[in-house]
Amino acid sequence: MDVKNQIDHVKQAGAIPNGPKRVLVIGASGGYGLASRITAAFGCGAATIGVFFERPAVNNRTASPGWYKSAAFTHAAQAAGLYAANLNGDAFSAALKQATIDLIKRDLGQVDMVIYSLAAPARQLPDGSLVRSTLKPIGEPFEGSTIDLNSGELRSVSLEPASQQEVNDTIKVMGGEDWELWMAALLKANVLANGCITTNYTYLGSEVTWPIYYHGTIGKAKEDLDRAARALVEPMAKINGHAYVAVMKGLMTQAASAIPGMSIYLSLLFKAMKAKGTHEGCIEQTTRLFKNLFMDAALQKDESGRLRLDDWELSEDIQAFVKANWSKVTADNLMDISDFAGYRQAFLHMHGFDFDGVDYDAEVDPEVPMPLEFGESTGA
Ligand code: NAD
Repeated sequence: MDVKNQIDHVKQAGAIPNGPKRVLVIGASGGYGLASRITAAFGCGAATIGVFFERPAVNNRTASPGWYKSAAFTHAAQAAGLYAANLNGDAFSAALKQATIDLIKRDLGQVDMVIYSLAAPARQLPDGSLVRSTLKPIGEPFEGSTIDLNSGELRSVSLEPASQQEVNDTIKVMGGEDWELWMAALLKANVLANGCITTNYTYLGSEVTWPIYYHGTIGKAKEDLDRAARALVEPMAKINGHAYVAVMKGLMTQAASAIPGMSIYLSLLFKAMKAKGTHEGCIEQTTRLFKNLFMDAALQKDESGRLRLDDWELSEDIQAFVKANWSKVTADNLMDISDFAGYRQAFLHMHGFDFDGVDYDAEVDPEVPMPLEFGESTGA
């Protein structure tokens, strides 16, 4: 239902002329990656290859949400006559990069766009060791609150500052190194078309979230994306291509739901943006991004060369509302001064629940097979 709604949105938004026709999405099964894939396919008529790390159903245990969403996308794309192929496995590994290159060569020849939208808790290095990313402040402890999604109660969160090792590890997992490795491998294999564009997603957010986000470990990893984008300028120029970091809006996704304090910020943000009529979900954001990239004569960039899709989130009146109410939120007034109801619904939607027109009591088979070029297509 989530995928269908997103496809309907893109169709209603209209075709994107001059959009890419062959697109690789790394991190294609949730949040921004899935929305990018849907915009590419249904807005540009693109053939898409999706890379993700999802769990199929095993012995009556349901699959992960991204599995069902990718299966639904694949069926819808193929029904619309669009090529859609999937690789399920660890995008950090050399094996998955090679399998993707082999698939591009076999089926598409080259790709016109590479969207890197990975959000991973850990990365396995070639020597087999595992590095973990952490969500911690740097320099000073963090004291904040988070909302319990079930009870609506506020819980306080205290986090000690990260060690230098934790900062380095978070950069290793969520920074730009793996994006650069992907692009180097794709360039070397000559599977990027002339004029190819690659994008990576970042978040800056509001002053109230800086202590835990932009000034924290994850912010350091995001700074590293800007470094990687600059490092990619030269290699991409050889094929007349471009590498962009796009700053996206704060939204409820699997990755965002793990960030301490984000629930209060997003609940206030949704309230203000819905009231103003500027609220967007992932699909509105990626469709606006594609329109900027492929329909605007002059591409607007900020002083760091980034594309800004967070302009409506950061507008003065919206941020003034968030700041004015930030320290006023309690369990009692949560439903009035913030859009906690909308935030909670976004969480349920992410897991496939709370959609009108779905009979949740109906018997369903949790095993939904998906055509895969890499990985096991069922868990059985
Ligand atoms: P998400 O959790 O919804 O999706 C993450 C994707 O990465 C999934 O497709 C998952 O399968 C894939 N993945 C994770 N580990 C993998 C691995 N080892 N190998 C292959 N695939 C793997 O996350 P999201 O919120 O859409 O985040 C995507 C990007 O957008 C991130 O860079 C994030 O920081 C950025 N972003 C998010 C927000 C937000 O508010 N959610 C805002 C701005 C930018």
